[in-house]
Amino acid sequence: MAKCLFCEIAEKTKQAKIIHETNDVIAFHDLNPQAPVHILIVPKKHISKLTAIEKEDTKLLGKLQYAAMEIAKELNLSDFRLVMNNGKKAGQTVDHLHYHLLSGRRLLWPPG
Ligand code: AMP
Ligand code: ZN
Repeated sequence: MAKCLFCEIAEKTKQAKIIHETNDVIAFHDLNPQAPVHILIVPKKHISKLTAIEKEDTKLLGKLQYAAMEIAKELNLSDFRLVMNNGKKAGQTVDHLHYHLLSGRRLLWPPG
């Protein structure tokens, strides 16, 4: 079975501009940035979306948020948005759970 795009990036069989990595998490620059800083924070484990997580994955979700905090510190970001799309109608296009870390411009609310 073909691996999903973000699994391939996590396994380094597909190139990406990686900015942060731990045993469980990988973060890389979005190919089509929507802000001056647009980073995707991804678990190495394949989970299709938030509604597909198991109770055992809750610690992993914390690690994703912790990675976001570390990246924000590394990049000296005081204001940023951390957002996750769940499902097509919410804007999810890659079926591998991920946070978007957006910063570097004024971010509108609601996002639309
Ligand atoms: P979402 O629409 O929430 O599923 O987010 C998927 C994100 O992945 C989009 O912002 C895309 O621009 C981004 N993306 C798609 N392919 C790649 C890639 N090869 N490397 C980095 N980012 C990508
Ligand atoms: Zn995957």
